[in-house]
Amino acid sequence: MMTRTAPHLTRAMPQLFPLYPSTSRAQQALVAAGLRAGDVLRRVARTPASVLPPPRFVPAVEALALAPALAVGGLRGALLAYDGALVDDARLVVGLARTAASFGARILTRLPALSLSGDRVRVRDALSGDSFELGARVVINATGVWAGELAPSVRLRPSLGSHLVLAPGTVPMGTTSVNIGVTGESNRFVFLLPQPDGRVYLGLTDEPLSGEIPSVPTVPESDVDFLLELASSVLARPVTRADVAGSYAGLRPLVDGPDSGRSADLSRKHVVVTGPDGVLTAVGGKLTTYRRMAQDAVDAAVDHAGLTLARPCRTAHLPLLGAAPRTRLSLVDAPPRLIAKYGTEAPRVAALNPDPLWPGTEITAAEVIWAIQHEGALDIEDVLERRTRLSLIPADALAATPRVRDLVDKTLADLT
Ligand SMILES: Cc1cc2nc3c(=O)[nH]c(=O)nc-3n(C[C@H](O)[C@H](O)[C@H](O)COP(=O)(O)OP(=O)(O)OC[C@H]3O[C@@H](n4cnc5c(N)ncnc54)[C@H](O)[C@@H]3O)c2cc1C
Repeated sequence: MMTRTAPHLTRAMPQLFPLYPSTSRAQQALVAAGLRAGDVLRRVARTPASVLPPPRFVPAVEALALAPALAVGGLRGALLAYDGALVDDARLVVGLARTAASFGARILTRLPALSLSGDRVRVRDALSGDSFELGARVVINATGVWAGELAPSVRLRPSLGSHLVLAPGTVPMGTTSVNIGVTGESNRFVFLLPQPDGRVYLGLTDEPLSGEIPSVPTVPESDVDFLLELASSVLARPVTRADVAGSYAGLRPLVDGPDSGRSADLSRKHVVVTGPDGVLTAVGGKLTTYRRMAQDAVDAAVDHAGLTLARPCRTAHLPLLGAAPRTRLSLVDAPPRLIAKYGTEAPRVAALNPDPLWPGTEITAAEVIWAIQHEGALDIEDVLERRTRLSLIPADALAATPRVRDLVDKTLADLT
């Protein structure tokens, strides 16, 4: 993703593991060993050190220069490592769908599947309310944490991960994330993740969820307290509920295994399984491994349907729409924040309408128009939640709504 598939959507994120008296020398050695192992993986993946530099120890003064929000007292230095970060997962999903469409895939949104069989899917058109059947040579169930609802033989252990959104200016961070070890645990961290627009995401939790799976999970109050308390333990100025501008949560689709331990310890590996009705289910995994997971699912589908003419999978070498080597991206004539969202397509987006959505924001009307013209957005919610992510801060979503509504109505009318 960083060098070929989606360089425009990813960046090298420096991450700091601050060392305070509460971090024992044994914990420090364990984290350092983990970071070195990560660097070995980087080499195996042939990602150059110029893209992801190797980890190193930094003295306290350098740690404070990188993350000025850290408390000075007791800081004996930090471990600094680099990891690939996806700036916005919604942009990856949209980029993938558009790239697939450019190769002939048909992307149909607002069409929840009601039931599946090996060669048939019953769906409901959420706009008209009609339900009907689609035929297929193979059906792949890739509905994440909801996979078990359509394929009862698949057993999942959903795990809730909560994030808080801290408003720009609340925690002075620069571009380096801060990873804070969870008290009493050797392999769990909470992250302060600075965003390009100055927001800081604070997360995340890893708690088992029992009962019905909600379509939009919410952040429990106990997670807010846990995250604020842990972050405050390393910050010069403690963060409080007054600093929280928004929050969001997601459900990890963890595959249930023989190990009945905590969800934080369950495997993050993906599986592709064939149910008794012939439906293939691809589930588990991580965003980091999405491409390999998709390859395994499509290979299994090709095999299942006996498609002998299919050629070997080539996603590993297939750039998403807008992708280009970083040297080429740096020459694209558009604002950097648009290049980070749209890559080489940024000048086409910028040309649509450079007006800010509301006074003081960098987000432009062009992004709303593009979402409708090229990214299948059908209404305000699509734009705010799944194309721009404005909804992460409710006050921003409120400020944007009147203008977004006008742009959605006008652009949809122009299209029809
Ligand atoms: C809080 C959190 C943090 C994470 N952090 C990381 C990380 O740092 N790095 C990393 O690599 N991974 C991370 N992950 C894991 C990663 O997000 C998931 O592994 C990944 O999103 C799973 O992808 P998926 O396509 O299988 O499922 P999803 O992304 O859940 O997609 C499933 C889709 O199916 C749709 N759907 C459901 N039911 C139906 C139906 N009946 N009909 C039609 N559509 C349906 C849903 O609307 C959804 O769009 C994190 C996950 C969470 C929750």
